[in-house]
Amino acid sequence: MTNLLTMMGPTEADLTRCVHCGFCLQHCPTYVATGLETESPRGRLYLMRALHDGRITLEDNVLTHLEQCLLCRNCESVCPSGVPYGRIMQAQRAEIQHQRKVGLPERFLRWVIFRQMLPDAGRLRTMGRLLRLYQRTGLRRLAGALGIRRALPASLKAMDALMPERLEAAYPPLGLLAPAKGTKRGRVALLSGCVMPVFTPQTHAATVRVLTRNGFDVVAPAEQTCCGALHTHSGERAGAQELARRNVDAFLAAGVDAVVVNAAGCGAELKEYGELLADDPAYAERAHAFAAKVSDVTEFLVKAGFETPTGALPITATYQDSCHLAHAQRVTAAPREILRSIPGLDLVEMPHADRCCGSAGIYNIQHTDLAGQILDAKMQEVMATGATVVATANPGCMMQLSAGMAGCGMRGEAVHVVELLDWAYDGRPNR
Ligand code: SF4
Ligand code: SF4
Repeated sequence: MTNLLTMMGPTEADLTRCVHCGFCLQHCPTYVATGLETESPRGRLYLMRALHDGRITLEDNVLTHLEQCLLCRNCESVCPSGVPYGRIMQAQRAEIQHQRKVGLPERFLRWVIFRQMLPDAGRLRTMGRLLRLYQRTGLRRLAGALGIRRALPASLKAMDALMPERLEAAYPPLGLLAPAKGTKRGRVALLSGCVMPVFTPQTHAATVRVLTRNGFDVVAPAEQTCCGALHTHSGERAGAQELARRNVDAFLAAGVDAVVVNAAGCGAELKEYGELLADDPAYAERAHAFAAKVSDVTEFLVKAGFETPTGALPITATYQDSCHLAHAQRVTAAPREILRSIPGLDLVEMPHADRCCGSAGIYNIQHTDLAGQILDAKMQEVMATGATVVATANPGCMMQLSAGMAGCGMRGEAVHVVELLDWAYDGRPNR
């Protein structure tokens, strides 16, 4: 309990680091979309400081401005004063959850999402099977033809639009062990995550093929669980800590050289377990040891050295930096290096490639209007490149960008960098 209480709310030291220079404003997607100071990093920091000093209270409008932050951390990357914006906002949200009186329906919904679904791989896979049935029996098409999908409430409509057109069977199987091909160079663990096995199993399958081809045994420990990023971003700090302890135990017991992650948001969370469990005497040291092993898959391949692909992919692609890879993990060169190694792939950079696409965990189903505005601006920039493929490094971004491309009638697709490398190695798998 001490841990939870001591971590509640941003610290005075963090809050006072902002010197109000405004360098971050033009890098903030919500400020760019609205033009409002209260939707900017500087404005939100001002609000949080006023809350901290007791000069204002948590009225609805204050809450809205704080909740509409994407937690993309673009402001953190560009801030000359080193304001740890992510840490501040996460602590603020934990405090809000602690203080706020929420009604029974919201409490129930949060209990279902954060306690019953996200931590339970079995339940998520069952949900995946039901969704596949919904697609494969033609029920989804029928719901579209009858106008039911258009009539759904905004959040459900956004969820429906984000769902891949054809869901594949979940992957990886719990407890997977895929042996290295050729000379073995090491043994790594794959974070399977919460919804990725259901919504983007093809990315996991490509990751395993690429890693084994490059000489690594891949294990996916059955005891692992959701990384807790959605909990952290939503102020559910205690829940995130519980999941972190389970993952530290599961991955350290696997005896691997590295923990490889193909979802930028999850990777950022895992790398910050040391901080998340800093006040837990039983886990602090082990959490740091665990975090030191975590690598994004692009970062890992470039560092370890990867086989240069020889198969040509004659496509024009642009790269969308995933916020939690670029701004939280500061990995921007490795994915581009992999893309540039693919024969025939023409990489055309777009402006503001590191500006959020509006996905941001479950932001796109919580704040549908603002997320939609942010996505529209992103799609304009994508279309100007002439690319037919948007490469990215996070399943949430892939789903958001795919929905964006479909929404503006673009032909093309959003694909994970590691999948493109896999296609260049062995051709595109039939699905
Ligand atoms: S957060 Fe950083 S960049 Fe933004 S106004 Fe404050 S000091 Fe300047
Ligand atoms: S985290 Fe992103 S949305 Fe939030 S204030 Fe910073 S730049 Fe803006």
